[in-house]
Amino acid sequence: MSVLAIYPGSFDPLTNGHLDVLQRASRLFDEVVLAIAHETEKNPLFTVQERVDLAREAIRGIKNARVEEFKQLLVDYVQEKGARVIIRGLRAVSDFEWEFQMALMNRNLAPSVETIFLMPRDSYSYLSSRMTKQIAQLGGDISSFVAPHIEKALRRRYGFAD
Ligand code: ADP
Repeated sequence: MSVLAIYPGSFDPLTNGHLDVLQRASRLFDEVVLAIAHETEKNPLFTVQERVDLAREAIRGIKNARVEEFKQLLVDYVQEKGARVIIRGLRAVSDFEWEFQMALMNRNLAPSVETIFLMPRDSYSYLSSRMTKQIAQLGGDISSFVAPHIEKALRRRYGFAD
């Protein structure tokens, strides 16, 4: 039986930390779907289609991973896909409280779905989409945080020349 895992998030945009977690998940599961949420409280910089396109390009080298978007409640989407595993990344203690609450809420809504936490390489443990955007907006160097085409997209979005 092939085991499918879903790695959900807003990925606005995908960073090297996300990619690291996805790579780890792809070595543990037969198939991994990076699932990009339409609904997010975070007022995204990129549209869902842009986030999907940027992520697709970035994960091309990971053969058993693909990108999808979803609109519904996460546990409903996971169950519709026939998956039983949600992957989340844990960077530091600061992530824990929110992730813990969300994992238990999801378990309450769908008891057969398990959330599995993976930690990125330690050099990515301080990396976030939010901070990458703030640095890009002020013209800082983000080349070690995101893939080159994502760096380009961010620079363009903030009005810097290529
Ligand atoms: P959210 O679902 O809160 O919008 P994101 O799209 O920013 O989150 O990230 C999706 C998942 O990836 C979350 O579990 C988040 O904790 C995790 N994540 C974000 N940045 C990193 C990173 N640098 N290393 C590892 N995991 C990360």
